[in-house]
Amino acid sequence: MIDLVGLLKPKTSKDSVIFIEVDGQQIEILLIRNKRSKRLTLRQNLSGGNFKLSMPMRSSIAQAKAFCNEHASWIADKSITMQDMVIFEHGQRIPLRGDQVKLIFLDQLRGQTLLLADELRVTGGSDYAPRRLTTWLKAEAKTDIVSAIEKYQPLLDVKHSKLTIRDTKSRWGSCSSSKALSFSWRLVLAPPNVLDYVVAHELAHILEMNHSAKFWAHVERVCPHMNDSRNWLKTNGGQLHQIRVK
Ligand SMILES: [Zn+2]
Repeated sequence: MIDLVGLLKPKTSKDSVIFIEVDGQQIEILLIRNKRSKRLTLRQNLSGGNFKLSMPMRSSIAQAKAFCNEHASWIADKSITMQDMVIFEHGQRIPLRGDQVKLIFLDQLRGQTLLLADELRVTGGSDYAPRRLTTWLKAEAKTDIVSAIEKYQPLLDVKHSKLTIRDTKSRWGSCSSSKALSFSWRLVLAPPNVLDYVVAHELAHILEMNHSAKFWAHVERVCPHMNDSRNWLKTNGGQLHQIRVK
């Protein structure tokens, strides 16, 4: 979950916050002065809403404001308001494997989650439905990720050690030097090709622990839709983080 209050507090005394008006809305930008920064760089984390501007030590607040105003349209495109947040409730539509499904919460006694065409029915009391749904989505994510691993491991001739499903805010997946893989459960919301690409990407790191040309060649060999999937994540990835879970 995004901690909006926490973002208001600068992390260290060197950091500060400025507000930029974009389309009548005040957007908060955390300024981070960094000794290694040679220029101003504006970034947003995957969960959306949180903008950070890295800047050299000598840069002024006025320079930071001018830079952000220059990039106001980019900020407007990326900014997510609280109204855009999707909360699990009856009648809400959520993405699942790239399609839209409608949530139907039913007050039947036995708790279960059932996917029927474009309806996702959650029974067992509306109060518990969001939690039950989250558990179900994470399990579905794991099933899809495991089958993608089984598909790509023989193609790349690699073998992973451990698998963890997380709710990571900054990465869709990771691969450690001990070949342990970790993925965001939110990949189950994206089109299946995108989940496949992220799995192929992390498995290819077992061969190449970097993003060299050799690494990308491995990914592209097994995953010809690599570029489409990367673009999809760049454009739509933030939206998958707009879904708040309990
Ligand atoms: Zn990578």
